Amino acid sequence: MRRLIISISAMKKCIWCEKEESFIQTFNRKAHTFPQSLNGVNVCENVCDLCNLYFGSKAESLPSIELVLKEAFHLSQYILLLATNQNKNKRYTSEFFKLNFKSKTITSKFKYSILSNFQLMLGRQFRRGVYKIYLEERERQVGDALEQRFNFIRQFARYNVGDYPVFYHKPKFKVLPFSLPDIKNPTIRFTEYSHLMDKEYRIFDYQIMGYKYVIPTSMQYEIIIEPYLKKIQLEDDPFGTTLIQIKELIDIDFMYLFMNDFNNY
Ligand SMILES: [Zn+2]
Repeated sequence: MRRLIISISAMKKCIWCEKEESFIQTFNRKAHTFPQSLNGVNVCENVCDLCNLYFGSKAESLPSIELVLKEAFHLSQYILLLATNQNKNKRYTSEFFKLNFKSKTITSKFKYSILSNFQLMLGRQFRRGVYKIYLEERERQVGDALEQRFNFIRQFARYNVGDYPVFYHKPKFKVLPFSLPDIKNPTIRFTEYSHLMDKEYRIFDYQIMGYKYVIPTSMQYEIIIEPYLKKIQLEDDPFGTTLIQIKELIDIDFMYLFMNDFNNY
């Protein structure tokens, strides 16, 4: 006879819906923080199967958050791996974009280009995805994602309520700082620096695919951005001292056109 033993300490609680593990609330599927399609290898244990499924599913005729993250970062990943000769014999395929490597142009695929606000909707899904990655990685590395102050992230990323910004540093030089292992298996890290930024500025900034992204870690973001901007301008941040707010997905130069002479692909 099989006996079922559940220890209290092993009981999982979902960081999204805040429900505990039970016979109906299962935690069997692996919740990858970065999509597996980008070679994300990190898994957050405290995401229930229903919430995990949500991030990978279409909602209200929108592409899933996971697909938008994959589409957005995959283009950069492909170009960077190609430029460093790590991507031989692999063709670029995309659900959303048609890419012309010779003329370095990117256009929407026809089925999507007929939707006038499609870029705005993609931008929103992308922002929700950036917050999703943040909270799941925070849980995996720090273990405090269930704190009340992150409720706004739960509301926005999981329940599509509210709207919160994602910024990126406008590159200052024609230099693209990136680490090859982080391009192959994208990840974000919580460090002494990130804890300090969280404590003093309520900001998390991190490099993904050569760009530095910035999100507020408090819902009062209006009063947060200005002091942060002053700080990076004073310190002359090598990533750039101007912040661009991402409204549409194409606000991000995923092909690194700013480099101009970045002609290896
Ligand atoms: Zn859940």
